[in-house]
Amino acid sequence: MSEHVRNEKTKQSHKGRLIVLTGPTAVGKGTVEANLLSKHPEVWVSVSATTREPRPGEVNGKNYWFMSEDEFVAREKRNWFLETAVVHGMAHYGTPLQPVLDHLAKNIPTILEIDLQGARRVKQRAAELNLEIVSVFIAPPSYDELVKRLIGRGTENEEQRRKRLKTAKVELAAEPEFDVKIVNDTVDRAADELWGVIAKEYGIAK
Ligand code: 5GP
Repeated sequence: MSEHVRNEKTKQSHKGRLIVLTGPTAVGKGTVEANLLSKHPEVWVSVSATTREPRPGEVNGKNYWFMSEDEFVAREKRNWFLETAVVHGMAHYGTPLQPVLDHLAKNIPTILEIDLQGARRVKQRAAELNLEIVSVFIAPPSYDELVKRLIGRGTENEEQRRKRLKTAKVELAAEPEFDVKIVNDTVDRAADELWGVIAKEYGIAK
């Protein structure tokens, strides 16, 4: 069992807290999320915008909103995003604001799966937007395991892998900033632990 580490300030019980999920590249956030959604389809995961190229099989509007840099920047200027970041020094990523507010208003369990910079930015904006957030860090069982997963995924070339591992080291060091830590040792167990956090925050019987 991995430990739950909670900050004092997040201990009171609130409904409709935004779950902000972060973890180093290739830790398996997407797989944990997919497992969670297969068991709890009532959870909504925000669809981010990105300027990176779609990977084979990725669908616009489902995995991401794929857009040009010009379009992204124009939307940024219109305050269309809750947060944006340049990830791995390569592409822009951002969370569209309105859908997040709409789902939270309906008390639908809402997850953002974003990078560390984005998670920090959401925390900074929480008061202004009247958002209650719970930040969750998905950790690998070890750094060596993370490297193995990144290489095993086989979707990146050598240069991309190098950049992602560099980012991963920085991200791993940020773990203490998060309210909850979940170790992705096995996907099924990690997803169940994540559901435990969501159920508690949204007052849902497990
Ligand atoms: P990938 O390109 O592998 O799908 O995602 C790369 C990284 O971008 C992941 O760490 C993911 O969490 C992050 N990411 C995805 N969407 C967003 C977003 O909307 N905002 C931020 N800040 N990061 C994001």
